[in-house]
Amino acid sequence: MKNKQMLLTANKEAVIELIRTKGPINRAMIARLTGLSIPTIMKITDDFIQAGLVRSIGKGESTGGKKPDMLEFIEDAYYIIGVDLGRHRKNVILMDMAGRIIKRNQEIVSEDEIQNPQVYIEGIAKMISACIKYAEEIGKPILGIGVGIAGIVDEQKQVNVFSADFGWNNVKVVQQLKEYFDLPIAMENSNRTMALGEKWFGAGKDCNYIFCVNWGYGIGAAILEEGSLLQGYNGSSGEFGHLTLEKDGPLCDCGNRGCLEALSSGNAIAKQMRKILRQRNCMAEADMENVQADDVFTFMKQGDKEAEKIIWEAVEYMGIGIAGSINLLDPNMIVLSGGITKSKEIYHSYLMETIEKHRMRNAGTKVKVCYGHLGENASAIGAATLILKNLIEKGGN
Ligand SMILES: [Zn+2]
Repeated sequence: MKNKQMLLTANKEAVIELIRTKGPINRAMIARLTGLSIPTIMKITDDFIQAGLVRSIGKGESTGGKKPDMLEFIEDAYYIIGVDLGRHRKNVILMDMAGRIIKRNQEIVSEDEIQNPQVYIEGIAKMISACIKYAEEIGKPILGIGVGIAGIVDEQKQVNVFSADFGWNNVKVVQQLKEYFDLPIAMENSNRTMALGEKWFGAGKDCNYIFCVNWGYGIGAAILEEGSLLQGYNGSSGEFGHLTLEKDGPLCDCGNRGCLEALSSGNAIAKQMRKILRQRNCMAEADMENVQADDVFTFMKQGDKEAEKIIWEAVEYMGIGIAGSINLLDPNMIVLSGGITKSKEIYHSYLMETIEKHRMRNAGTKVKVCYGHLGENASAIGAATLILKNLIEKGGN
């Protein structure tokens, strides 16, 4: 009985995924592509139509017999909430099932919120409520809430086990959000939700083996194989930023020395610049604290040689890290996303040169290196996609 149910779910998943990605499509075509019988497809598609997930949009071109009925996925049947909990910024979006953003709330994270996770989550709950209220006003049901968060997430317990960015340990994020909302809630590490977003709705749509790097204040990554996120044995895979590249290098937030993150991240770039500005004694201490990686790129453009050196070194270390990931994983696409990619025009060719120089000959010869399409909303879109993915995998139930 259990096997029969699993088979039905797998069939429903195949059919809904075809209608979602290849629609408008007729039942004969679905039969050809899935190998299922027409009566089985009739039954499944009728259920989807009843559930309001699929609709008929009239008759398509005939290839001889009766004109076929064309079916399409109703992309706005439900809205989904996507949440990106970051160290500096919290982003909450309301999106439809085609990845289109309907509404967005963005706020800066306060120090009080970092010190007190409960306050942070209370603030997030308010932002989510505003999106739900908006959806209710226009009569759209909400499918669920997807959460992306920096740090290591325990999938089963839905807890933020450790985050170097926040300095949090064992924060029960999902449990706390459930006190506010009676909706399905899913959570994943935000580098992984970013990768999922780019795979479903962005740069990685046509690729099956993606290494997605989040190059921002910190550095993280996620690996997608055949469209699924690689978890690792304990669920902590993808800590790309903490590969050691210099054994006695600068101290990293994780406690080790010489990590890629301590050499190449936005935080590392800004820290090195502040050190130089201090030596130059040219700026008030308070102003110096506000210097971020974006400013270092600006200084470089203005001809500051030391800023330029910091940037080239950071880019070189990133190139070495990516070359290593190509040797190790053999992906067919590298997607770079995150704040540092705003300045890609400056460093793209040097980054590619460095990757070429350090990549093993004949490894990853066909890999494409590209930049994310979803910008600063990638993690939130991917978080909402966790909920959509669950719906599809359960065959629309
Ligand atoms: Zn580290």
